[in-house]
This record gives sequence, C-alpha cells and structure tokens, in this order.
Amino acid sequence: MDLIVAKFGGTSVGNGKRIRKAAESVAREYKKGSEIVVVVSAVNKTTDDLINITNDAITCNLTEKQHAEIVGMGERTSVRLFSATLESLGIKSLFIDPYSELWPIITDSNYMEARIDLDKTKEKVNNLKSLLDQGIVPVVCGFLGKCKNQVTTLGRGGSDITAFLIGECLNATEVIIVTDVDGVLSTDPQKISEAELLESITVDEMKTLATHGAQVLHPHALDYKHPKIDAKIINYNKEDLKAEGTYITGPKDYKPIDLYENPVASITIVGKSLLNKVGIVSALSNILLENGINLFKMNPHHNSITVFIDSEDADKAYELYHDHVVKSEDLSSISRDKDTAMFSITSPEISEITLANLLTENDIDAVLINYTKTEILLFVEWEFKYEVSKLLNTYKN
Ligand code: ASP
Ligand code: MG
Repeated sequence: MDLIVAKFGGTSVGNGKRIRKAAESVAREYKKGSEIVVVVSAVNKTTDDLINITNDAITCNLTEKQHAEIVGMGERTSVRLFSATLESLGIKSLFIDPYSELWPIITDSNYMEARIDLDKTKEKVNNLKSLLDQGIVPVVCGFLGKCKNQVTTLGRGGSDITAFLIGECLNATEVIIVTDVDGVLSTDPQKISEAELLESITVDEMKTLATHGAQVLHPHALDYKHPKIDAKIINYNKEDLKAEGTYITGPKDYKPIDLYENPVASITIVGKSLLNKVGIVSALSNILLENGINLFKMNPHHNSITVFIDSEDADKAYELYHDHVVKSEDLSSISRDKDTAMFSITSPEISEITLANLLTENDIDAVLINYTKTEILLFVEWEFKYEVSKLLNTYKN
C-alpha cells in the first residue's frame, strides 16, 4: 500500500474553496487505497500577518518562546480547518498540533529556528503510524516543533522540512509538495519569460537552487529525502495529487558524511595582491582543465592561492604550475603542503558550531573549512582521516 505525505502550502489552502479542493484530492487518493499524512502550512500570508501584528504590538521584551507560540497559530488553525473538511467528506481524520499527545516533531529549545531531534522524532512518528493503521488521515501542522511541551518553529518556510522529515521517518512511498507553481522552472519566469518547466531535477541540483534563492522549496527539506522516496512538486490548481509536476530524484548515493577516497594534495601558489589582478585564478584553473585535472577547491587569498586536487595528479600539476609561476610576473613561488582528507558533510545534524566544537575538543586543526548553506567541505591532514571520520559519524543520523 502506498504511503503518501502531502504537503499543502499557504496558497493551496488560501481560501475555503481551495481547502475543500485540497481535501477532495486527498479523499480521492485515500479512497483508492493509499495511506496519507497531510502536512499543512498557514493559510496564505497568515504567518506574515502574525509577525507584523506582533511587531506592532510588542516593541520590547518579546521572548522567543512567546514569539513561536504566536507565529505558530497559523498552522494550528489550518490543520483544524483541513481535518474538519476531510471529515465532512466522510474521511476519518485527526488534526495533530504540538499540544496533541501524538505530536511527532521534537526539537531543541531554539524556539524560532529549532533543530530537529531526529531520534526522538523517529520514535514519536510511530504515533502517526498507528493512526494510519486505523484508517485515519492525520493532518499535521507544518513548520512547528515541540520542546518540553512548548511550541517551536523550524524557521520560515519550514513546512517543507516537516513533510520530508515525516516522509523519511515513516518510510513513505512519496512526498508531494502542493504549491502555487507547476514545478521547478529553468529560471525565474519574472526574469526570463521563456523559463521552462523541468520534468525532473536531482536532489543536489534542487538543493543548490533552493539555497540560492529559488522559493519553491526550503533548502533544508531535502536533507531528509531518502533516495527510495519519490518526491514531486505540483500545482494546487490541478486539484489532483496525481498531477504531473517536477519530480525530484535521488540523491544517488546518500552519504551525509562523505570522505573522498584518495588523499587530496594542496598546492599553494604565492604572489602579490593576487585578488586585485584579473585572470590569475582563471589561468590557474585553466592549466588544470587543459590537462584533465579535476579541481576540488581553490582558495584565493590576497597573497596566495591554494589549490586542492587528487594527490595522484599532484606531481603533474606541480610541474605545470611551476612553469607558470616562473613565467608569471605576478607569481613568485609554489609549495606543496601535507596531503589532506576531504570530507563533504551534508548531514543536517552537523552545524558549523558542532563541527568547530568537535575539532577543538579533539585538538584537530582543520586545513580548510568551507561552509555553504547546504554543505560543509572539510579538509584535515590525511593522518587524521580515521579519527575525524569516527567523530563525525557519531553525529550523523
Ligand atoms: N507558514 C510558515 C511560513 O510562512 C511556514 C511555511 O509556510 O512553510 O513561513
Ligand atoms: Mg514555502
């Protein structure tokens, strides 16, 4: 039997008629025999309104705990509406909000941007499973969490996270994001009118798009996408959960902590005021490109540029760079440091702060750490590879 997690965004439940159409689309799939968990956002711009009203009313001493309680009311209203609509259609349903006994999503006490406690959440999600077993459609507040009986929020746009998180914990067949666009477009149609709808997109591509401003999905939602779980983004105006949209595929190989198998060489090229000169960086990367050498990371500073490549390519690159340095007026010398181990960390359990603490507590110096919103690239000396691997793996989910 299929288990679907369907998430309805604010516009898709933007008025009474839409809520009814949304509930009908759920009822239809339910009657075909699927188990369904519904995740709902706040109606339209309710969250914005609540934030604005709060800011106007309270100019000082608003605690984060109070703030989370207030902004959470949008979702707490919409689950009641959605669940009652389902019941009116003859479907057994229960709304689940953070004060319900059955509430599954447990977080830390960072009230407005809480971090999920995956172990506890996995345990609690069994509550939803037992509702599904009884033929009940649970309707869960998106965006919200709970810490010691207090409401927390996962941050703006967090309902997408809720959907994928529940999908992962329940081992769902499919996560469907119902929103106000047809899917993912090749670019913002406001900027280029010929933007095309993509039939499918990989998790990695989608994450990158989301991180760089595409509004269609929260960048961290896909941290919880398992390769075996199908996912798609569809338009609410199709009024059909089976509608076509953009499918999100992968990840190919789900490795929240990925250690590159070979040692990675770091070669440093020294010169003066390098950042002020055009073409220095591109010349260095072109030399690698022309010689079929893959560049993992380039770290340009004012007076030096460090290049990270597979150690198997290092001797060749070193020679090529040396020739280049000798000929170049801007560059003066080149050196090769100890080989490094390169980790790519995408586990939502490991934040910048966690990583920094972990390394400090264990007296390990990083050669380089590169943070982006979706990935941390960590280089440590090769000899620390096992130790760091072990430390990181105690954190991942
Ligand atoms: N209602 C929340 C917001 O507007 C969460 C969401 O819609 O995902 O940010
Ligand atoms: Mg959204």
